[in-house]
Amino acid sequence: MSKPHIPLPDIEAQAAQCRRCPLCDGRTQTVFGVGNPNARVLFIGEAPGKNEDLQGEPFVGAAGKYLDELLGIAGLKREEVYIANVLKCRPPGNRNPRPEEIEACAPFLREQTRTIDPEFIVTLGNFATKFVLKTEIGITRLHGTLQQAGKFKVFPIFHPAAALYDGSKRIALEDDFTTLGELLAIANEIEDK
Ligand code: SF4
Repeated sequence: MSKPHIPLPDIEAQAAQCRRCPLCDGRTQTVFGVGNPNARVLFIGEAPGKNEDLQGEPFVGAAGKYLDELLGIAGLKREEVYIANVLKCRPPGNRNPRPEEIEACAPFLREQTRTIDPEFIVTLGNFATKFVLKTEIGITRLHGTLQQAGKFKVFPIFHPAAALYDGSKRIALEDDFTTLGELLAIANEIEDK
């Protein structure tokens, strides 16, 4: 028998107390996730940045504003999806997450995903994609292709912050969000039949 889903506020409260890796020492607060707890689409990014750490919410600031625009391309609104990160605490200087930090933090994201039980998981960038798909294949090859992880449809996309530094990624991001909108529409049609 599968174990019962843990309510999101309970998982969030556990994360807020967590000292499983050294990132707890530098955080202002944990950044658990935000959005519709029954979302059909779960977006997973990398880790909180400076603004996220201060505000306690993922994807605020310039990358968040751009994510809102991209969601619009797929016909989605921020309040109807759920947005989380692989890591719940900010790595110093926004460095890349370390494997041992990802391993320590993984139970929170796993429980979060079980409870939200989305139809689609959109992984934003390399770290989320490798984590969810358990692959070493990079985002440059995987972005824009529909994958499967267990019962979940997984759609890898570049991290929106990447496009803020590299304009060439904007086109790929916008194309992939267009494709995401199409995939959601197709899934809707199948459901309606
Ligand atoms: S990053 Fe995750 S594992 Fe590390 S202290 Fe924060 S909540 Fe705990």
